[in-house]
Amino acid sequence: MAHKKLNLPSKTCPVCKRPFMWRKKWQRDWENVKYCSERCKREAKRKIGV
Ligand SMILES: [Zn+2]
Repeated sequence: MAHKKLNLPSKTCPVCKRPFMWRKKWQRDWENVKYCSERCKREAKRKIGV
């Protein structure tokens, strides 16, 4: 039997350039999620602020 692929959405983090997958904690907010982690979010803010 063929392995069934999970069809979770993913995005690429603009800070670390790595793809990250949809997570349940983002289920209500996926449209607004841009960064893979709080750390990258902070990093992005720092860069923009300069
Ligand atoms: Zn990241």
